[in-house]
Amino acid sequence: MEPQRSPLLEVRGNIQLKRPPVKAPSRLPLPGTRFKRGPDQMEDALEPEKKRTRGLDTVTKIATSRPRAPALTTVAQTQGQTTAPKVPKKTGPRCSTAVATVLKNQKPGPAAPAQKPGAAAPVLGGRKPTKRPAWDLKGQLCDLNAELKCCRERTQTLDQENQQLQDQLREAQQQAKSLGAECRTLEGELARVQAQAEQGQQELGNLRARVLELEEQLGTQQGLVQELQKEQLGLQEERRGLAARLEEQERRLQASEAALSGSQAEVASLRQEATTQAALLVEQGERLHGLEMERRRLHNQLQELKGNIRVFCRVRPVLPGEPTPPPGFLLFPSGPGGPSDPPTRLSLSRSDERRGTLSGAPAPPTRHDFSFDRVFPPGSGQDEVFEEIAMLVQSALDGYPVCIFAYGQTGSGKTFTMEGGPGGDPQVEGLIPRALRHLFSVAQELGSQGWTYSFVASYVEIYNETVRDLLATGTRKGQGGECEIRRAGPGSEELTVTNARYVPVSCEKEVEALLHLAHQNRAVARTAQNERSSRSHSVFQLQISGEHAGRGLQCGAPLSLVDLAGSERLDPGLTLGPGERERLRETQAINSSLSTLGLVIMALSNKESHVPYRNSKLTYLLQNSLGGSAKMLMFVNISPLEENVSESLNSLRFASKVNQCVIGTAQANRK
Ligand code: ADP
Ligand code: MG
Repeated sequence: MEPQRSPLLEVRGNIQLKRPPVKAPSRLPLPGTRFKRGPDQMEDALEPEKKRTRGLDTVTKIATSRPRAPALTTVAQTQGQTTAPKVPKKTGPRCSTAVATVLKNQKPGPAAPAQKPGAAAPVLGGRKPTKRPAWDLKGQLCDLNAELKCCRERTQTLDQENQQLQDQLREAQQQAKSLGAECRTLEGELARVQAQAEQGQQELGNLRARVLELEEQLGTQQGLVQELQKEQLGLQEERRGLAARLEEQERRLQASEAALSGSQAEVASLRQEATTQAALLVEQGERLHGLEMERRRLHNQLQELKGNIRVFCRVRPVLPGEPTPPPGFLLFPSGPGGPSDPPTRLSLSRSDERRGTLSGAPAPPTRHDFSFDRVFPPGSGQDEVFEEIAMLVQSALDGYPVCIFAYGQTGSGKTFTMEGGPGGDPQVEGLIPRALRHLFSVAQELGSQGWTYSFVASYVEIYNETVRDLLATGTRKGQGGECEIRRAGPGSEELTVTNARYVPVSCEKEVEALLHLAHQNRAVARTAQNERSSRSHSVFQLQISGEHAGRGLQCGAPLSLVDLAGSERLDPGLTLGPGERERLRETQAINSSLSTLGLVIMALSNKESHVPYRNSKLTYLLQNSLGGSAKMLMFVNISPLEENVSESLNSLRFASKVNQCVIGTAQANRK
């Protein structure tokens, strides 16, 4: 019986050891305990396990649904059924214990005598049968038999039960086997799941690191986003500003476009007008040119009517410190038109003390009347004088040579008339700067009619029949190297002074600079030879060249402005010292050149075949300015002083002779 019992216990032990089947699922890793995955991931990961667990659970349930005790209970029940009905159901185990005890006791002990069935004590009921007296062997045997029978029955039952249990054991072993297999599978799965879990853990770690990294990135990105948002705000603001500006610009553009279209229409009409105007302008230009030519012709006619040789007399005022001349010494009788007419006559009274009357009373003064083209009394200003010669100067632009002289004794106002007074006062500006300013201005006006002019100036002095450059600079300054008057080229009519500077001028400033330089050069010379300036002729020449490119016209003429040397004679009563002898020589040279000038004018006036230009440097230099086509003006400068009356008379007589001359019709130098 012992070997049969151990498998049952073993099975039970096995079952109890291998189970608790109910707890089996709990040995599986619980979701959310070891994995910190998301619920979904964990669900997915554990899904097969769950299913399996459920399956296992089912199996376990099946296994556990079979009562553990019932096997014994069944035995007990069977036992109960087979044993006396008095035996309570719950005495099964106790009965088995009793059986075991009996069996135990039986094994070593001697066989008990059979008991009488009826007398058999209910051993199995747990109550000890009443001990039969030693003499009741039969009873004892009967008891033993009953007990044996009972044991046999029990043995049978136990065999059956054993059989059943063995079946159950097999079944349980089978089940245990399958459970073991399942357990292994589950363990494998568990290992796999654990590996997965570890992997998941690792992934989780990685993910955490990644999350941290991403969080860091997120932080950076958020910072960036904030910056960008700030920037965006700024940009939005800027955009709004730009949009407003754009709107403004568009508005302006529209206004401009409207204005432009208006302007375009205006331009179109203006263009049309311009075309008309251009045609008109051409027509006007033609007319203007015709008129200009007509003006030049009429201008020349007028100048001719006034005379190609004109003489103006100018009397300078009495200077401070000079004796006042006696009343009536100089008179300026009105012209035929009355006092409104510009004076043309001058009357000079001379009282000759040597002539006496018989009564001894002084002889009445002798009146000398002179008539000139114009007489300027002492009060006449520089502008008034220039006004009279402006038209004559303009003739030079039209191509007529013009020559203006200032003739008179020293101190009569020649230099004042030609160059101007001291101090650079514009009121006392002389004829040279005024004439040049006038020429520049008229040339500019003529520029609008297509004429272009150029001017080249030179300034020389002739002293004792030698020519000296007054525009010399540098080492030649003041020395005035030898200059010679030569023809510009072989067969050329034009004359030029060698070694002299010919300076192109185009504005007043340049002329001023030249006059200043000439003044300086004269001053240097004055220190070398006393008062040389009044003993020499100063010749300012301006070569004028004009061109009308459109019509292929050219004209050119010289304008000469000459400040002659003092015309006074040397007092014949003077004793001749060495200085006086030199003075006499100078005077003779001056007188010679001045009389040559007179002779040249006479010869021209008389249309003589030979004109003695070459008799003096002065007339030779001015040859081209004195010829047939030239216009000449002579200022005779007179001192208002009575003491100079003799020289004044000489000058007036010389001028009168010149005034009587008429040079033939002038021809413009046109090419
Ligand atoms: P010239 O050149 O004939 O020797 P100046 O021109 O040097 O004479 O004149 C002599 C002086 O008389 C100078 O001081 C000058 O300023 C003065 N003078 C000459 N003419 C006038 C005038 N019209 N008005 C005022 N002062 C004059
Ligand atoms: Mg002078």
